[in-house]
Amino acid sequence: MAENDGEGSWVSRVVRPSENEKYLEDGRDFVDVELIERELAENSRPDPARIRDIVAKSLSLARLDPSETAALLQCGDDDLWQEMYEAGLKVKQSVYGRRIVFFAPLYVSNYCINNCEYCGFRTSNREIVRSSLTDEQLREEILALIRKGHKRLVMAYGEHPRSGADFIAHTIRLAYSVKENGGEIRRVNVNAAPLCVEDYRKLKEVGIGTYQVFQETYHPATYRKLHPADTVKGDMRWRLYALHRAQEAGIDDVAIGALFGLYDYRFEVMALLLHTMSLEKYFGGVGPHTISFPRLEPALNTPYTENPAHRVSDEQFKKLVTVLRLSVPYTGLILTAREPAKVRREVIPVGVTQLDAGSNIGIGGYSSGAVRGEKQQFMLSDPRTLDEVVSELVDMGMITSFCTADYRCGRTGGCFMGFSKSGKIQGFCMPNAVLTFAEYLLDYASPETREKGWVLLEKELEAIPEDGPREIVADYLERIKAGERDLYL
Ligand code: SAM
Ligand code: SF4
Repeated sequence: MAENDGEGSWVSRVVRPSENEKYLEDGRDFVDVELIERELAENSRPDPARIRDIVAKSLSLARLDPSETAALLQCGDDDLWQEMYEAGLKVKQSVYGRRIVFFAPLYVSNYCINNCEYCGFRTSNREIVRSSLTDEQLREEILALIRKGHKRLVMAYGEHPRSGADFIAHTIRLAYSVKENGGEIRRVNVNAAPLCVEDYRKLKEVGIGTYQVFQETYHPATYRKLHPADTVKGDMRWRLYALHRAQEAGIDDVAIGALFGLYDYRFEVMALLLHTMSLEKYFGGVGPHTISFPRLEPALNTPYTENPAHRVSDEQFKKLVTVLRLSVPYTGLILTAREPAKVRREVIPVGVTQLDAGSNIGIGGYSSGAVRGEKQQFMLSDPRTLDEVVSELVDMGMITSFCTADYRCGRTGGCFMGFSKSGKIQGFCMPNAVLTFAEYLLDYASPETREKGWVLLEKELEAIPEDGPREIVADYLERIKAGERDLYL
């Protein structure tokens, strides 16, 4: 099949504009540019008392509204920002506890029919070496990740007829089937192009965890400029409602994100909130499971990344993560190894819940051990190993969790939201974090990380209320020491 024939029929098979219609309001989508600009203008000099009231609302774990989020974004007082950073941590601790969940990105295919100006995988980039993992290569990649201690993946794919829903479903099934010495992948999340409802159902059937689609930019004019109209991705509305359709198909953990650097960061944060509210509105209060906020990184032969129109400084980055934390207290926040270690140290404490480490985003990069620039989408800035980052988190008093129990016990979607919105998820999550951390320390950690990690783990065990599950966790820990694995509440 000539690639162009494939693309033509691919677009008409996949893109079904009628599936978006029920989510439009008077024919308009949820990105209300005027509203965002008006709120940012009207809140341009927020009163300190108002900021404190908004922070108090956030500490009660209520989601903020657009006017409140705009006020936080526009705050110009350093002392108030300090209070917001501290509040971000408190919100995170009361919803998620002192734990950080770890995942590994796994790039499966870099064939792509789109031409996003900022991405190394864009179709016009002739310097990228294209490849798609064979079953055998995928198995090798997964084994390499299992051997490091990983239990959760985010599998990533370019958009291409050869990596459609059937291929994605096949690779998810394969990822779950690989096992070695008690090690296995227990949750497969996916970052891929928007699909139609029928295709999402195929992924639901094979046990997908979260489906992630980043909008890149919510600003329509900028979106049009960076995503040519004659590509699938050029259809902004198809992307905007990708996760509504995923929810409709029964994938109840969905994840949103924006690529920071393409347009004004304040606008994007406001739009992420509107996206959240739209999902809540149509799906019984269930907003995004996580929000991602990647910053643009350099990519091979990709001049746009060298001088992005709206580069976000480190200080602005910390602020925007804080505002997301305070605006949507129940959602997970993902900070990737795109960011250098120094920035991660600064930003984790304002309320991040998920990290990756020791990541390789070259196709086949984990099993070959090499970072291969010509096969990478962009460059990572934190090259530290998983063990090094886990060790640093121990020093910061945080438990590394590889827990996947919520997903496997059906605590997803509305059920997860119910727990996390009311701050009760700690009753399950801290105990399960302790149990998966114990597995990691025993099976994969360096001696130094194991020793200090175990001291922290015992402290966390003591912090579980006596009238809570402390006794059962202590019992499970003994069983894990004796060789059992995958025990959870
Ligand atoms: N092809 C799928 C899509 O477009 O949805 C998956 C894309 S990729 C695996 C995941 C994300 O990487 C993109 O959605 C984009 O936000 C981000 N990305 C692309 N180019 C980037 C760059 N130069 N620096 C940082 N992140 C980038
Ligand atoms: Fe393709 Fe996704 Fe890269 Fe765009 S961001 S060129 S769709 S891989």
